[in-house]
Amino acid sequence: MLLRSAMTGLLAASLFQPVLAGNAETYEPEAEHVNDNVYAIIGPTDARTYENHGMNANYGVIATDEGVILIDAGPGAFSGPYIERAVAEVSDQPVRWVVNIGVQDHRWLGNDYFQQQGAEVIAFEKTVESQKEFADQHMEGRLPDALEDRFEGTQPGYAKRVLEGDTASITLGGTEIELSLTDAHFPGDAMAYLPAADVVFTGDLVYVDRMLGIHPWSNPQNGLEAFARLEAIDPAHVVPGHGRVSDMERARRDSGDYYDFLVNTVGEAARNFEAMSDVLDANEDVERFKHLEHYDSWHRTNMNRTFILFEGM
Ligand SMILES: [Zn+2]
Repeated sequence: MLLRSAMTGLLAASLFQPVLAGNAETYEPEAEHVNDNVYAIIGPTDARTYENHGMNANYGVIATDEGVILIDAGPGAFSGPYIERAVAEVSDQPVRWVVNIGVQDHRWLGNDYFQQQGAEVIAFEKTVESQKEFADQHMEGRLPDALEDRFEGTQPGYAKRVLEGDTASITLGGTEIELSLTDAHFPGDAMAYLPAADVVFTGDLVYVDRMLGIHPWSNPQNGLEAFARLEAIDPAHVVPGHGRVSDMERARRDSGDYYDFLVNTVGEAARNFEAMSDVLDANEDVERFKHLEHYDSWHRTNMNRTFILFEGM
C-alpha cells in the first residue's frame, strides 16, 4: 500500500493510460456500473503484459443478495485477488458463482483460484471440453511468457456444474442469466443475457474499438449467426469481450459488419473460386473498419483465415 500511494504521486503528471492510473506496476481492475446490479471490468485493449497480468479482456460482476456472480474468471491465480478487490467495491457478498463464457486463456485460467475460495464454476459442456483441448497450449503459450512470475500457481480448473445443450437459464438471488453458445472466436464460447437489466455479456463474439481476431479455430460463419441472435435480443447494454461498454449500434459497426464482410465478401469469393491473393489485395483497405485498433496487424490475417475456411466448404 505504501508503494501504491508513493506511485500515485509520481503518476499524477505522467502520461500513463487511464487503465493503469494509480499504479505503474500493476493494472488494478475496477467494476464499472452497467445497469441495475450489473457491473463490468473493462480491461485494456492491448496485449497480455506483465503490467496488466493478462487481464486484457472484459469480465462481468453481478451483485445479488445470495452472492456475486462473476462472468469469466480472469487469467490465473495472480489476478484473482485483484478481481476480488474490484468486486468488494460494489458488493459485500463473496463470489459464489463463476460462469465461464469463454475458452481463451484469460477467461478461465482463474477458475482454480475461485474454486479454492469456495466458488462454484458453471459452464456449458462444450465450453469445458474445448477448455480441456486448449489447456496445454494456454499453459505454455503467450500468457506465461508475458506474466513470468505472475503466472505462478495458475493451473487449469474446470466447471463442476456443467450445462448440457447450447442454451441454458440459471438464476441466483433472483437474477436470471440466459446463456447460449456462440462458437465464434473459440469453439465453446458463449454469451450471457440478463433480461432484467437488459445487458448482454457477449464474450469474444463482439469486440469494439479493436478489431476482432480470427484464429485458425475461429468460425466467422458462426460469428455472423450468433451476432444475428444478439441483434434479435437487441439489448440496451452490450459488454463486449474487448473494448468499452457499448450499445448495439457500435457492436454492429465494429463486429457485426465485420463478420458480414468476412463471410459475404471474403468467404463468398472463396466459394466462387477466386484467387486468394486477388481477394486479399482488393480488400486491403476497407475504410469503415480502419478506426479499429490492430487493423494493420490483423485484417489481412483475418481475411486469409476466412478464405481458407470457406475454400473447403
Ligand atoms: Zn478475447
